[in-house]
Amino acid sequence: MLNHTKVFIKNQIIRFLQSYFVDSINIMAQKTIVILGGGIGGIVTARELRKHLGTQHRIILVDKNAYHTFQPSYLWLVVGWRTHAAITKPYSAIEKYGIEIFQAAVQNIYPEHRKVETENGTLKYDYLVIALGADSDSQIIPGLDNTVNSFYTFEEAVELSKIIPVFSGGTIAIVVTSDNYKYPPAPYDAGFLLASFYAKRGITNVKIKIYTPEKQPLEFIGPENSHTLEMLLKTHGIELFTDHKLTTVESSTKTLTFANSIKTNYDLLITIPACSPLKLLTNSKLTTNSGWIEVDKYNMRTSDQNIYALGDNTRIEFDRGILLPKAGIFANNQAEIVAYNIAHEIMGNTQRKAFSGYGFFFIETGNSRAVNIHGNFFTKQSQSLTMNEPNVTFHWGKVVLERYWLWRWL
Ligand SMILES: Cc1cc2nc3c(=O)[nH]c(=O)nc-3n(C[C@H](O)[C@H](O)[C@H](O)COP(=O)(O)OP(=O)(O)OC[C@H]3O[C@@H](n4cnc5c(N)ncnc54)[C@H](O)[C@@H]3O)c2cc1C
Repeated sequence: MLNHTKVFIKNQIIRFLQSYFVDSINIMAQKTIVILGGGIGGIVTARELRKHLGTQHRIILVDKNAYHTFQPSYLWLVVGWRTHAAITKPYSAIEKYGIEIFQAAVQNIYPEHRKVETENGTLKYDYLVIALGADSDSQIIPGLDNTVNSFYTFEEAVELSKIIPVFSGGTIAIVVTSDNYKYPPAPYDAGFLLASFYAKRGITNVKIKIYTPEKQPLEFIGPENSHTLEMLLKTHGIELFTDHKLTTVESSTKTLTFANSIKTNYDLLITIPACSPLKLLTNSKLTTNSGWIEVDKYNMRTSDQNIYALGDNTRIEFDRGILLPKAGIFANNQAEIVAYNIAHEIMGNTQRKAFSGYGFFFIETGNSRAVNIHGNFFTKQSQSLTMNEPNVTFHWGKVVLERYWLWRWL
């Protein structure tokens, strides 16, 4: 009998110890991943993390807004192809996947304390993913801030969508104000779309002129592709002025002055703003002098082992000194890699993936056609990027991609 009791007590102790340690292990295993920014990169990171990770881990997505708007559709908003509702979705739509939405403006990141300060409180993390995008900078050129018509923010695109249909004719100057701007094909997209917009309405007194500081349009696609783009612009009646670096804007006389001393007039000015890094990042010690976050180009890890950064707030340089363009396709692809690698590290295995550098762009050329430029941006670009002639399939490819993206991720 005494022996029986001893065995019983022993078993109870073992059970207690087992349950205690298993619980402790589970508690230790619970991780909190905080994602800053609910743009293309942030949303994909959150959804992919949830796909790979068990529900005991917390995924918190922080954005200053309650809604996501899909930037690649802004130009379609300008020409009336899209409404606000068609390209906007609330972040609350992804709460059902077990992603916590924290609406607040991020103010500071403290890597040494693994915490982030926001206007609505402090968040602690085990892993941090920074996907806060880039700011526009219209201050760099005297006179520019008074005259801005652009389509790089949602509000600007809405404003421009009111001006375009009532423009009474004359010269539309689309001016690239810096070498450093988001989504390099956008000025050409804009030129083609506006030319087609007015042509369809039989309006013939609108002249579209594109000014860029580049020696050739989209230099990074290589001289041959660049030349093809030049020819396409010409065929559509769009005048291109390369090697034109804007120095001042005189809005009272509607005059532009360029570094080559050329002056010209416009009736409607549309600017492509320079992009600049978010100021809050510089305090985090994660950036270099450039203000952008430096990451390993294959896994997007920063100098801090528990912090990753992706998309527009990073700076990725190639061997030839060329920077990876700031584009949603890269933010999306990098996010999938980052989520996979964080999840597998948490799960304690060694499986990892690397970002390949593959990407593609569509450029609308009007009449329901688009060109497609695709290839691996990490290899010698002029040789690795292919540019296909404008066709209907690429135009519809872009439409389907937009619809798919908003349906798939939000
Ligand atoms: C007109 C236009 C057309 C484009 N077309 C294409 C295209 O056809 N194909 C393509 O690949 N790319 C395109 N792009 C580029 C693409 O949209 C961006 O490269 C992409 O959105 C970058 O993703 P991201 O996650 O790095 O940043 P973003 O998508 O910009 O997201 C950043 C997020 O951070 C949030 N945020 C910023 N600061 C704070 C803060 N302090 N606190 C909290 N939240 C904050 C913002 O609200 C935003 O939701 C286009 C861009 C523009 C402007």
